[in-house]
Amino acid sequence: MTTAGVIRRRDRYDNRAATTFDRPPPFRTAAVPADIQALFLDRDGTLIEDCHFVGDVEKVTLIPGTREALARLLEAGTKLFILTNQSGVNRGYFTLADVEAVNRRMIDLLDLGPSPFAGICIAPERPDEPSRYRKPSPRFIEEMLADHGLSAAASWMIGDRPSDWEAGIAAGVQVAAITSSATQAEWDARRLALGIRGYTSLLDWLDHADR
Ligand SMILES: [Mg+2]
Repeated sequence: MTTAGVIRRRDRYDNRAATTFDRPPPFRTAAVPADIQALFLDRDGTLIEDCHFVGDVEKVTLIPGTREALARLLEAGTKLFILTNQSGVNRGYFTLADVEAVNRRMIDLLDLGPSPFAGICIAPERPDEPSRYRKPSPRFIEEMLADHGLSAAASWMIGDRPSDWEAGIAAGVQVAAITSSATQAEWDARRLALGIRGYTSLLDWLDHADR
């Protein structure tokens, strides 16, 4: 479904069906806490390496541990959403079709079935343009929580930038930071001011039951 400035793929499938593997996944050792209903995930710098405006499928590289973490979460029935600011579209660096191609490449690399994500929201606006969904807007998170009957307290926003954390805080979900990207240091003061814990990867977050 396409609306102005946003592409959303609503939940049309059962997560269990989406994780029917041709072969068993090689990681079944660690459990997923039962109190996690949904993850709202930033894309660049959280799931794939952020190489500064990712518009080329050849540059798509999964951050180590991403596949294992998402596989475990899907097996546990956690709904996964992506919320990604892609101002490179309206800056003219690449097109919305390029962003979608990068998403497809990422999903191919994940190898977790054709539709591991219950919804993908792309905000193509520049920071100086009005936008309904560009982070730190909490709107997409709020809409998905309502549409899917999810508990905000049992849902997380995870990303590497202040706008990710601020969107999650505004939506009332729990928030975690990925702190491995090259430019992270400049955002650490904001992260610490917000009291948000940092993890080296999504898998690192998932593996820390004391979060
Ligand atoms: Mg990011």
